[in-house]
Amino acid sequence: MKLPPLQYVRASSVSEAVDLLVQGAGDARILAGGQSLIPVLAFRLAAPAVLVDIGGIADLKRIDITDETVTLGALVRWVDIERSTALKAHMPLLPAVMAHVAHYQIRNRGTVGGSLAHCDPAAEMPGLAVTCDGTIILEGASGRREAPAVEVLTGALAAEIAEDEMIVALRFPRWRPERRWGFAEFARRQGDFAMAGIVAHFDQDADGVARDVHIGVIGATDRPTRLPGAEAALEGRIPDAMTIRDACRAVQDEVEPPEDIHASAAYRRALAGVMANQALRQAAGLPAAANGQ
Ligand SMILES: Cc1cc2nc3c(=O)[nH]c(=O)nc-3n(C[C@H](O)[C@H](O)[C@H](O)COP(=O)(O)OP(=O)(O)OC[C@H]3O[C@@H](n4cnc5c(N)ncnc54)[C@H](O)[C@@H]3O)c2cc1C
Repeated sequence: MKLPPLQYVRASSVSEAVDLLVQGAGDARILAGGQSLIPVLAFRLAAPAVLVDIGGIADLKRIDITDETVTLGALVRWVDIERSTALKAHMPLLPAVMAHVAHYQIRNRGTVGGSLAHCDPAAEMPGLAVTCDGTIILEGASGRREAPAVEVLTGALAAEIAEDEMIVALRFPRWRPERRWGFAEFARRQGDFAMAGIVAHFDQDADGVARDVHIGVIGATDRPTRLPGAEAALEGRIPDAMTIRDACRAVQDEVEPPEDIHASAAYRRALAGVMANQALRQAAGLPAAANGQ
């Protein structure tokens, strides 16, 4: 279907985009790469009066790495992350995960801000934002604010963003170079959204003990979320095969999978455990389990 009639405006700065949102009084929408918004409009799931295209705002395309932080501008695309040598050096989990997002054509246009605002529970970047202590930076009529990703990404397709606000960046604490990480997801076809995926990262002290364990899930819950029970199963222990098995059981106990046309809740729960085993073994430097799980 063709898009509903609407006014198209190209903003040249964040403040201009925010002004246009204010003028739109709840009936204006930001257009980033259009990878979700255009289908939403074509299916008439939304019919805003105004589209505010932010694609020309250069400041939003930056990847900034300091001693303390890694910041992705709202218009940083998946391919930018996937190819970034700086990110490969300083936060290699991010480029590694991008290879799992959709297909090349979509990775060429999909953006950090668009994915966070769309807030699909199976999308990779919201999962990374929540599991890696991301802070979302927003700008609106009353100025700039920062909020932990977990407070913004609170439900399926339901990010907590005011009508006059837009996302300008996502900031992560920078990792120690030795930080261990793993990621695994399962989709029925290459490029589909994950039916279940696990993000895991932790430090290992001189005795090999896991510290500051972060484990998060996508696809098997109604929002990207960390799994404190699974984290506790690994925290302060050596991540060997037995300990990882305990953490995987905790993952299966903790997830609350949706039931839909793609999979039963029980299947997604089992899958989350299998993905946890793969991700945690990768993080711990263990070989993949002999049965592929
Ligand atoms: C076939 C297909 C398969 C896909 N598979 C995956 C996948 O496996 N994994 C995955 O993570 N993603 C997947 N995606 C999603 C894709 O990667 C994009 O992340 C997503 O569509 C957002 O697209 P976009 O950045 O172009 O934003 P748009 O489509 O332009 O915008 C999406 C929404 O966010 C709002 N928005 C955009 N930018 C901002 C901003 N800065 N501030 C506030 N609101 C904003 C828009 O108003 C709109 O509501 C898939 C998409 C398609 C079409």
